[in-house]
Amino acid sequence: MATPPLILGNWKMNLNRKKTGDLAVGLKNSLHDLGSGVTVAVAPSMPYLDAVGKLIEGSPIKLAAQNIFWEPRGAYTGEVSGPMLLELGCSYAIIGHSERRIYLHETDQIVRKKVRHAMDSGITPVLCVGETFEQRQQGNKDVVIMKQIQEALTGIVPSEKAKIMIAYEPVWAIGTGQACDPKEARETTEVIRSALVDLYQQHIADENFIMMYGGSVDESNVSSYVDNESICGVIVGGASSVLEKFLGIIFAVA
Ligand code: PEP
Repeated sequence: MATPPLILGNWKMNLNRKKTGDLAVGLKNSLHDLGSGVTVAVAPSMPYLDAVGKLIEGSPIKLAAQNIFWEPRGAYTGEVSGPMLLELGCSYAIIGHSERRIYLHETDQIVRKKVRHAMDSGITPVLCVGETFEQRQQGNKDVVIMKQIQEALTGIVPSEKAKIMIAYEPVWAIGTGQACDPKEARETTEVIRSALVDLYQQHIADENFIMMYGGSVDESNVSSYVDNESICGVIVGGASSVLEKFLGIIFAVA
């Protein structure tokens, strides 16, 4: 059976405890009749994961982490492991977000370790890839993305039960209001698929990876991305922090 599209709200480090709780409750109250045509997940800041998990209990909303470490336990000050996230009820972890690649210097090797650890922990990785404005200007977009895919996934084998989500998130489209042209976003998922075919047997590449788009998604443009074929979900940053805007996006897809 086809997987319903995933709408993943990335609340980044934008909301304090009160605003996070209010948003979670607002979503729960509005989405009790969501149905099975769409999956909604929210990624609050790490300190609020436990509280949000409790607030959305009994609703169809799933919990996601904005990050994950690559070891299950140990002397890693400040880090959070897969088993810990699982205990809090997380279903997904965003990995390789461009903000972490840029500000925290996360490399493709780190990203790979995180993807593997998420999978070993029973958490679905949402692997983000995408080119910067400069890389795009220089005509290097496809090369950059193929390298990100190859280096993040070498040696990692997904399965029917443990799929990997890959989000094409052009860095220049994140938080800028300049969303990528939907046709180009779709073409880029084809580039990603061709990189996957270099790594995996065709049926694994076809069946065990789900493509998403992220970058200035809003209520008015979301339907032009999610076609349930080449793009089966979106990551929503800014617009997911405002209840009415996020609901508008969810209902446009649902
Ligand atoms: C993101 O941070 O993953 C994102 C897509 O942000 P925005 O929707 O604000 O562009």
